[in-house]
Amino acid sequence: MIIKKADIETIAVKPNQYPNADIPEIAFAGRSNVGKSSLLNLLTNRRNLARTSGSPGKTRTINFYRINDQFRIVDLPGYGYAKISRSQTEGWGEMIEAYLEGRSTLLKVVQLVDIRHAPSAQDVQMYEYLRHYGLDGIVVATKADKVSSNERQKCISIIRKTLKLSAEDKVIPVSALKKTGYEVLLDELEQLIES
Ligand code: GDP
Repeated sequence: MIIKKADIETIAVKPNQYPNADIPEIAFAGRSNVGKSSLLNLLTNRRNLARTSGSPGKTRTINFYRINDQFRIVDLPGYGYAKISRSQTEGWGEMIEAYLEGRSTLLKVVQLVDIRHAPSAQDVQMYEYLRHYGLDGIVVATKADKVSSNERQKCISIIRKTLKLSAEDKVIPVSALKKTGYEVLLDELEQLIES
């Protein structure tokens, strides 16, 4: 699949602000700093579509991007950010849950984890959520350039084990820096949308 058109459509914090549930959606989740914005920019071939962590004023919102007028990529707010208060963390959970449990057009949530580290307790919790809602099955291991090709399989098996993945679940190593692996992910997205 080639993404020819990608535009921000809506920024929401609650369901009545979501766009109409008229086209399929694929959401992306991960802890903050995992490389989600960099990946979304790479997928859509736009330098600044999603705000990277470096940008000031990055807010906790659900961002809906309209892709090729065919489907939406939904950027869920990053979790595990140390500098936010407990009450904000709780608000985050409610915001994400409201979206995951009530969105009829949501096909799948791509879970991002850093290839270098075993998934955190929050990553595991997030993946459990996804499993509960039947939205699991695709994990992206980000920053793949940070490990050697020898280490890669070992890192992936730690990710598989920690998230308790089954054999059919996919772990796709991607490097936004080196622009590798994203075509595999785009193919997966295409299959989801067309199935
Ligand atoms: P977000 O908070 O999940 O949206 O993460 P960002 O996309 O803002 O990335 C967080 C940091 O990781 C930034 O300093 C990026 O430059 C860096 N980063 C993101 N993707 C990669 C990657 O594929 N390789 C490397 N080496 N660094 C990356």
